[in-house]
Amino acid sequence: MTKARGPAETLLNEPRCMNCRRKLSDPVSIERGCGPSCWASIQALSKRPCDPANRSDYEYHYTRLEGRAVLVITDLDRGGMSVTDNMEAILDRIAYYAGADPYFIACCGPPVICRDPEGNYDGVRLSPDGTVTFTR
Ligand SMILES: [Zn+2]
Repeated sequence: MTKARGPAETLLNEPRCMNCRRKLSDPVSIERGCGPSCWASIQALSKRPCDPANRSDYEYHYTRLEGRAVLVITDLDRGGMSVTDNMEAILDRIAYYAGADPYFIACCGPPVICRDPEGNYDGVRLSPDGTVTFTR
């Protein structure tokens, strides 16, 4: 019997594409949690102007910190809205591409860390009412 796995568990045990769930083998794909063809389509989709997450310039990837999977969201600071101010929409978008609920990403999935343009890292929490808070 196979059991549905969450992104964190999947990442730790057998790296799979967060989009199509195929196994990932090359380090670049494993780092971003997504295979090359899915990455291309996600990049194309994320250019949609109507997406509120696009008010910010950001990129995200899964990595390991002290042996645990974490989701790192980096503010690219290209003149758009700051990732910090737009975190709710960004989490929503990441959850959408991962096929997960935003609460899963923020609460049950890997811890979320946000890297601001100055290189500072903040922990990100999403409460059930949708409020985003940051911890340092
Ligand atoms: Zn894929």
